[in-house]
Amino acid sequence: MNRIVTNFIEQRTLAGKRGVVVGTGRSGLAAARLLTVLGCQVRVADSNEAVTPERLGELKDTVELVTGPHKKEHFADADMIVLSPGVPVRKLAHALEGIPARTIVAELELASWFIEAPVLAVTGTNGKTTTTTLISEIFRHAGIKAFTGGNIGTPLCEYLLDMEQAEVIVLEVSSFQLQNCRLFKPRVGLFLNFAANHLDYHEDMDEYLSAKLTMFSRMTGEDTALLHESLRPAIGDRGFTNARVEWFGPTDRFEAPHLPGEHNRSNVEGAWQAVRRFGVTEAQAAEAIRAFKPLAHRIERVAEVTGVVYIDDSKATTLDAVIAAVRSCDRPVRLLMGGVWKGGDVAAFAREVRDSVIHIGLFGGSREVFEPILSKTFPVTWDATLELAVTRQAGLARPGEIVLLSPATSSFDQYKSYSERGDDFKRAVGSLA
Ligand code: ADP
Repeated sequence: MNRIVTNFIEQRTLAGKRGVVVGTGRSGLAAARLLTVLGCQVRVADSNEAVTPERLGELKDTVELVTGPHKKEHFADADMIVLSPGVPVRKLAHALEGIPARTIVAELELASWFIEAPVLAVTGTNGKTTTTTLISEIFRHAGIKAFTGGNIGTPLCEYLLDMEQAEVIVLEVSSFQLQNCRLFKPRVGLFLNFAANHLDYHEDMDEYLSAKLTMFSRMTGEDTALLHESLRPAIGDRGFTNARVEWFGPTDRFEAPHLPGEHNRSNVEGAWQAVRRFGVTEAQAAEAIRAFKPLAHRIERVAEVTGVVYIDDSKATTLDAVIAAVRSCDRPVRLLMGGVWKGGDVAAFAREVRDSVIHIGLFGGSREVFEPILSKTFPVTWDATLELAVTRQAGLARPGEIVLLSPATSSFDQYKSYSERGDDFKRAVGSLA
């Protein structure tokens, strides 16, 4: 436990306060644990009725659990409401009616009050996990002790409670979390890109951009805001930060043999500009970047079968991520798309990829969104499942072509997650051989 947490406990700053945590995932439980340690009376609320007190583990006897649709009475007596990262505040709007906004905080915000080490935070629509992981690898190569977490891996509350203190905290930060942050302030904030996403949740692009920009709002002249040059038009002359603002774009500064495409050259440059503020040398970064392998389901080469290359980019849940994947291919592309639509401009997308894509194989959901527009530019087929779509493309493809799963959607119509969808693709490809 660090000094700041200990001070809070000793001075009983939060003792006896009512904390309500929404969500019983790993982050929610870690937040409940932190609040308990700080002396709060904790209630955990989960809309899933199947959750039982056993889920609370060691907290079972000290924390109250309420399940089922969120109700006003679950929150009315709260001094603080902590939201898990995957819980958009709008989903609770009815139950939170009348509660002052300052009472509601993200798990990240809660934990950040107690953090001592400087924070390097990464946000953007696409490439957060890749870049955050790359940054963490660079620190490892440079011998700097970094904790990496937030939206990925270990929640920040868990780091505070259980782990040895790090020299740098590297966080992947989503717009859902940022909407409920007020004091959270990174030393270096990296904003990778901004494209249509979560428009099923955010009111519009402006609200989505504003959520992302809150990451910079508390920063001071000591801090650095690193923004991708493509963000300039969207940001315009908004005064969004007091930090030093620097812009970056793709460069050839580093050799990154396993990270294809211009978008990755941007991610790599962004990572470098961020880590150099923490004393990493260019040679140390170069070594880590050269060795870095892409994470699973992100433009991951799966196999070559009778001269056709199969690529798994199941993590591409936005049209911009698909464009980036298509641009990283140096051969004609047969593109597999489909799933749960999150929004975007399909006609503009078609114009961006028309020179490289020779066929679109739709599968599963959102056929009604894609087919009418894409069939004006490409041959389009539809299959009920991904497996059938793979088999169809394998029958049509000629040597020298690529079959790319880059679905532009979330996977929840047929799968639990993007990784299950990617694994299904790999299985289908495996059975071709
Ligand atoms: P996130 O954590 O933001 O979802 P990931 O690193 O998991 O990002 O990558 C998600 C998808 O976005 C993958 O399909 C990946 O190839 C693609 N991608 C990565 N970086 C970029 C970028 N800078 N621009 C567009 N797409 C990108």
